[in-house]
Amino acid sequence: MTIETRLFINNEYVPSSSGETIPVFNPANDNLVTDQVQVASKEDVDKAVAAAAAAFKTWRCTPSAERAAIMLKYADLLEQHAEEIAQLESTDMGMPIMFTRMMAASQAASFRYYAGLTDKVHGETFNEDGDGLFKMITYEPLGVCAGISAWNGTQLSIGWKIAPAVAMGNTFVHKSSERSPLSAIYLGKLVKEAGFPPGVINLLSGGGATGALLASHMGIAKIAFTGSKAAGRKVQVAAAQSNLKHVTLELGGKSASIVFEDANIENAIKHNSQNFLINNSQACSAASRLFVHESIAPTFIDGLKQAWMGLTHALGEPADDKTFLGPMVDKAQAERVNEYIAGAKADGIEVLVGGEEQKRAGHYVTPTLLLNPGLESRVYKEEIFGPVLVVRTFKTEEEVIELANDTSYGLSGIVFTSDIARALRVASKLEVGTLSINSAHWPSKFTSWGGFKQSGYGRESGLEAVKEYVQSKSIHVALKV
Ligand code: NAD
Repeated sequence: MTIETRLFINNEYVPSSSGETIPVFNPANDNLVTDQVQVASKEDVDKAVAAAAAAFKTWRCTPSAERAAIMLKYADLLEQHAEEIAQLESTDMGMPIMFTRMMAASQAASFRYYAGLTDKVHGETFNEDGDGLFKMITYEPLGVCAGISAWNGTQLSIGWKIAPAVAMGNTFVHKSSERSPLSAIYLGKLVKEAGFPPGVINLLSGGGATGALLASHMGIAKIAFTGSKAAGRKVQVAAAQSNLKHVTLELGGKSASIVFEDANIENAIKHNSQNFLINNSQACSAASRLFVHESIAPTFIDGLKQAWMGLTHALGEPADDKTFLGPMVDKAQAERVNEYIAGAKADGIEVLVGGEEQKRAGHYVTPTLLLNPGLESRVYKEEIFGPVLVVRTFKTEEEVIELANDTSYGLSGIVFTSDIARALRVASKLEVGTLSINSAHWPSKFTSWGGFKQSGYGRESGLEAVKEYVQSKSIHVALKV
């Protein structure tokens, strides 16, 4: 397959005006995939925003049925080309193909879901109420919206950002991560073939500098950012210092998984081993702090250890259908995770499984299970974004709620128990935006996704996401003049 590396602006693939490029390596073997990924310069960003602004004038008043038909055609095309998309995403970020196929499918699902909402966001009316006025609220699109994605779920992120935006009549400029640009660039030809008019969807590549240009752009009405707390903070500042654009932030997490003594042990082990390790735990919602009730701790931790030891053999080539664990996204991320593990060992934290560096080629990290890290240790407090799970025990429900909430993050959580009253009681007290009972937390198109505290604000996915791409207008009509 020829790999597209150019920018997609106004329905055309174009090279970067600056000629700057970035290389992409396959993290499974460090082979160069391409050194030609074009970096969007200020001029390119301005062109993309101008194209989106021009397209907004007509796209916002294109009949909803027409917008929906184009979105549905695009979803069909995504499905027809799912294998190429999955291969590209697997090649540049190392996610096993069995999961990148799901990512590609998730983007199609988002476009179908939001296509069904193009004609369902209606206004409200209020009768005269002694004030001589008939009143109404209408909802209007914001204008040119931008999205910046992290590398760990490009296709999902694109679906969550672009689909609700264009469904509501906005136009879009998206920037993928410099660490996983290929599957995003590929989408341009499908956007055009689906019939999106020029400028409605523009796809840029580049790093933090290109992201900063979007965040500070005077022509962008809203930016939906997914990434680290540090970069999210910069985006918010840039938005405030430019045109006060709307901002939503999907940031990191250090989520808790709580296993009570009455939990189904086998199920809790599965979700805290295999399911925690999906995508090498390079998932914002990964519950990387596990709390186990002390009365079941010896048996549970023994079972967990066995499950983790089994999974250390699951490492393989991401392109292989059977591979469950691929490499980390790149050298820097593998080194970062290995540094956390080495630091934990140097601090004397007990290593139950893993702990040693991989010798094989590529940027693989050994899944590592750590017992009883101190409450102030880095592995306990900081988001590692890799296959490292820390385990502690607890005595009471009150204590574990306090432990779980003792973090600046608030993205996700899991509660394992067979007592539904306890599950809901604990769920109501956890300071998180997404939570599952008796299962690892995965996104659903029906529910919203987003964080409490420093995991960000605003919501993607579900019905709630459309509110992020409209603004209300109140209109009053005097009944007697
Ligand atoms: P990152 O912050 O390094 O990069 C994210 C994106 O921001 C990239 O596209 C990057 O080019 C861009 N960027 C960097 N500096 C910027 C700046 N100053 N202005 C504008 N854009 C800038 O994060 P990452 O390493 O790609 O992703 C990992 C992080 O993302 C983790 O913290 C993870 O938890 C988080 N994440 C959150 C969610 C969620 O839905 N909450 C989903 C996926 C990842």
